[in-house]
Amino acid sequence: MPKKIYLDYAATTPVAKEVLNEMLPFFSEEYGNAMSVHSFGLTALQAIDNAREQTARFFGASPSEIIFTSGATESNNLAIKGVLKSYYSKTGNKNKRPHIITTAFEHHCVLNACETVEEEGLAEVTFIKPKKDGVVNMQDIQKAIKDNTILISVMYVNNEIGTVQPIKKIGALLKKENKMRAEKSLWPIIFHTDATQAVNYFDCDVNKLGVDLLSMSAHKIYGPKGIGSLYIRKGTAIKHIQDGGDQEYKMRAGTHNVPGIVGLGKAVSMIKTERIQQKNAELIELRNHLIGRILKEIPKSRLNGSAIKRSPNNANFSFKDVEGEGLLLSLDMEGVACSTGSACSSGALSPSHVLLSIGLRPEDAHGSLRITLGKHTTKKDIDSAVEKIKTVVERLRKISGKVLEEFYNNKK
Ligand code: PMP
Repeated sequence: MPKKIYLDYAATTPVAKEVLNEMLPFFSEEYGNAMSVHSFGLTALQAIDNAREQTARFFGASPSEIIFTSGATESNNLAIKGVLKSYYSKTGNKNKRPHIITTAFEHHCVLNACETVEEEGLAEVTFIKPKKDGVVNMQDIQKAIKDNTILISVMYVNNEIGTVQPIKKIGALLKKENKMRAEKSLWPIIFHTDATQAVNYFDCDVNKLGVDLLSMSAHKIYGPKGIGSLYIRKGTAIKHIQDGGDQEYKMRAGTHNVPGIVGLGKAVSMIKTERIQQKNAELIELRNHLIGRILKEIPKSRLNGSAIKRSPNNANFSFKDVEGEGLLLSLDMEGVACSTGSACSSGALSPSHVLLSIGLRPEDAHGSLRITLGKHTTKKDIDSAVEKIKTVVERLRKISGKVLEEFYNNKK
């Protein structure tokens, strides 16, 4: 059996050994509930405090601004619905609907949360389309701002095509905008970013970015699944959306996932900001080798999204006349694991909303392949994967060519 090649690091990453080792005692030795007053509880609480400090340090925040959640899905839901809840509890006004701005190519947890609050009549939402290169236009955001805008949510790195959004610039724009709004006694605009795919590769200092809320998930950074965090800038108007206990400064009820939290803290602390540039450069070289070979050696292939403004680990291709799901399954049989679009939607056969948003035709948006690299990816893996992709694409094109030929023959 040949070695399997994992090229789906944007879907999830393996837990680092160092992370696992930190977590292990908290399953069956130090198993206290962090809310208990006895020594078992205290040990768990101290471990959580330590993880909160590690997380806060990474984001340039203070520990009381970090809330642990079950992952980015929950963080994003809390950010959007919690801000709305606070708005209504403060204004008590159900008649004047507030306005939210987001993008058309957010992860489904943001898109669907926005659609839900819109359907429930709680907010009007503007979904900004990115440009063809997969980057949102600052002017489009600026133009969309209205007097009743209370929240802007823009992802840092797109999970399908890896394109990087101008978060710092939007943050700076909103700083100015909010000064003017204060003079006009308008509600300040809260800025949220889903940084889930950015944490490993880009500066996530919340003050440099100028964000008020930032979501992430540990399993994208060699931490465990089912744990994430939401940074909440001190003073941000947001309310809890889940009722229960007083955990997490009353922002997120439910018994703490102590091993998960410990794992998240360790995973975040292992990203050495001073080494990010070097690591990115290594990954970019590998990723560009992949892109170069695919585009050169496979006819009628294209790279989706900007070649430059993209995450070091992401390559997303479309192959004309090749159906994405077929490609994925055939590659899996060859031992290569990658994805079409996001893992969460790759079970569905609808064309990728991300690719549609950057102007691909539905038939082209069906045939995409997302390849995401990680710290265990080697040049040998890439070269071996390219050979397999070449063979599979050729095979599938022959089949689809025959099917099309038969289709047209039957029509004659
Ligand atoms: N946002 C982005 C950008 C993601 O890539 C993901 C995971 N695919 C999520 C949110 C959701 O993360 P989780 O499933 O860990 O809640």
